[in-house]
Amino acid sequence: MSENKETKVEKKKTPGNFTGRSSVPPNVSNADEDEVPIMETFGVIPRGVSMKDFLEVEDVELYKQQYEKNKKEHHTDRYFNNKLIIRRGQSFDITIYFNRQYNPDQDQVWVEYVIGRYPQQSKGTYIPIPIVEELEVGKWGAKITQSEGNSINLTILSSPDCIIGKFRLYVAVLTPYGIKRTARRADTDTYILFNPWCKEDAVYMDDEKEREEYVMNDVGFIFHGEISNIKKRPWEYGQFEERILDACLYLMDKAELDMSGRGNPIKICRVGSAVINARDDNGVVAGNWNNDYSYGVAPSAWTGSVEILLEYFSSGMPVKYGQCWVFAGVFNTFLRCLGIPARLVTNYFSAHDNDANLQTDVYMDEDGKTNTTLTKDTIWNYHCWNEAWMSRPDLPVGFGGWQAVDATPQETSDGMYRCGPASVQAIKHGHVCFQFDTPFLFSEVNSDVVYSKALKDGSKVVEYVDKTHVGQKILTKEIGGNGAQELTDQYKFPEGCEEERLALDAALMYGVKKENRDEFQQLSELDATMDFQEENAIFGSDFKVILTFKNQSSNPCTISAYLTGHVVFYTGVLKSEFKNKSLDLSLDPLSTKTAEVNIKAGEYMSHLVEQASLHFFVTARVNETKKIMAKQKIVVLQVPQLYIKTVGEKVVGKEMTVVIEFTNPLKKKLQNVVLRVGGPSIMKTQTQIFKEVLGNSVLSWEEKCTPRRAGTRKIIATLDSDILRHVYGELDLEISSGDD
Ligand code: CA
Ligand code: CA
Ligand code: CA
Repeated sequence: MSENKETKVEKKKTPGNFTGRSSVPPNVSNADEDEVPIMETFGVIPRGVSMKDFLEVEDVELYKQQYEKNKKEHHTDRYFNNKLIIRRGQSFDITIYFNRQYNPDQDQVWVEYVIGRYPQQSKGTYIPIPIVEELEVGKWGAKITQSEGNSINLTILSSPDCIIGKFRLYVAVLTPYGIKRTARRADTDTYILFNPWCKEDAVYMDDEKEREEYVMNDVGFIFHGEISNIKKRPWEYGQFEERILDACLYLMDKAELDMSGRGNPIKICRVGSAVINARDDNGVVAGNWNNDYSYGVAPSAWTGSVEILLEYFSSGMPVKYGQCWVFAGVFNTFLRCLGIPARLVTNYFSAHDNDANLQTDVYMDEDGKTNTTLTKDTIWNYHCWNEAWMSRPDLPVGFGGWQAVDATPQETSDGMYRCGPASVQAIKHGHVCFQFDTPFLFSEVNSDVVYSKALKDGSKVVEYVDKTHVGQKILTKEIGGNGAQELTDQYKFPEGCEEERLALDAALMYGVKKENRDEFQQLSELDATMDFQEENAIFGSDFKVILTFKNQSSNPCTISAYLTGHVVFYTGVLKSEFKNKSLDLSLDPLSTKTAEVNIKAGEYMSHLVEQASLHFFVTARVNETKKIMAKQKIVVLQVPQLYIKTVGEKVVGKEMTVVIEFTNPLKKKLQNVVLRVGGPSIMKTQTQIFKEVLGNSVLSWEEKCTPRRAGTRKIIATLDSDILRHVYGELDLEISSGDD
């Protein structure tokens, strides 16, 4: 390597800032070269002096014994990546070999970490690490722990708030004539990640079981379906899989997050929620809710995040297609991969408050039908988002901990499709004044549904307010198991209690655009009630909807009811009406009456969209008092499962066979059936297309694989076809190491 002729000439004892001249943008974490000079001379080197006369670095070693030790201690040994990966705020060891013995009285040596294109000490992108007597918590430092022959062993401590990303490492030696550095070497690149195990880190989490689930678990479940018929599907987060760490760091480059912001989990979450969706910035996942996925993969067909992130990493173009659980699944991988504790949550009856008045407005025509022109707010059967764990120094004390972040493009926030991080605690108490996007999240979990009648003269009359419909249940996967943990009480006080109303009042005071909100007075108690249930709603079969009316007054009454059935997207958007029926009943005082409505498979099958969801809306009028009752309900048809089994020994390094079986529940054939199967450290995602599967027949598919890691692992499979979607299967299996 030759000397760099263009370096500064003024004398200096400590390294300074380097000025880059590259056309490559500064926000590139994986830059292969940089502007750090090999030799920084202090002037003209006198004749006869060779830089070889001074201490020279012959080798830097991050590998061998330290390598495994560092990775284990830093909980990074599961990453399928052979570079050193450490977590900030925690010490690690390296060895430096010189051309002669190191003399602490004469020789001045330091280690440097550099990231980005224009490294600057003030921005934390150039980090000189001095050799010190004692390491000091909170600061970068290196301590000589062993000196043997021509080598020294250094224990390096990083600062707990440093930038995270892929750093380049140099060793610098000070000579009377300048600073001599080691040349750029790819094999000493070091990844620095967040550290939930470090008390000084903003993402510190004190429970080992929680860290094991929210940082280390690379598989999980996503809850979906409907409140009375909760379903779950497996998802491969795969944060440790090959190239996923680089793919996640690439997202921060893509989002052009300033290097100096990359140590701050609040900024990373905010930027992540924008770049995970393709809107505005050609981010990772392109959303599609129209049921036509001919130019990509159906959202329900993905088995996890790995395939999506790798495709994005190699093409840089949005991956088609996603819906809320796909955005949330990929976001969860991104957060866990960088070391930010994260979990995926599902909210049942999630309101989408289109006009930011903190209430969900449903307008009905005079005949009781929903007015789809006036009604802009929607209620999703369910909606998924993420929570990330961190301190919030930007908010008053008490609002750190879980923060809601949402990558599904629903509404813009400061000009971009992104949402959060919003303190879950602030949502619960209605403190919607605390950034970011807390009013929107508050509406999702606890807005009132206000049913108004739109009269022909253009005026609107509030008919009924449902204070308990929205945000009925919020779930996440439980720690260490496959079941659900309920988080509803983290987001809201119990419905009907004083605190719940108080939180709503607080939210209205802090956040509502008053002109958007219709004033309504408290309605008197209804003298009749209505409810309805479905029975055995199986995909492809007939079933019944049963309506129950109760007369609570001491007078007889007559009720006129009107039921409509629509095929619905899970976002609450109605597709097409397949059923409508009027009913008239008369009830004795204080009596109950039921009415059945038969739903034939032939009525809904041809209209179905993915998730096989049907929406029923019943409006009823008590003719004597003119009181209106309204109720809506989603029915998710039960779909079959995939069955997975394995053949052969389940041992690391040995080939085994995975068999996936599916039985077509319909009498007619399924066409263009796509099966997918994969599992972290067992097999990369495999895809197989079957032109058709005959009615009521069994399909069986075998794939070979060779497990890479021992322990409890998971295989995840999906099936997708034009008329049947959201068919999932999973298998937990124990892989043995083969050592015994
Ligand atoms: Ca975006
Ligand atoms: Ca609204
Ligand atoms: Ca409520």
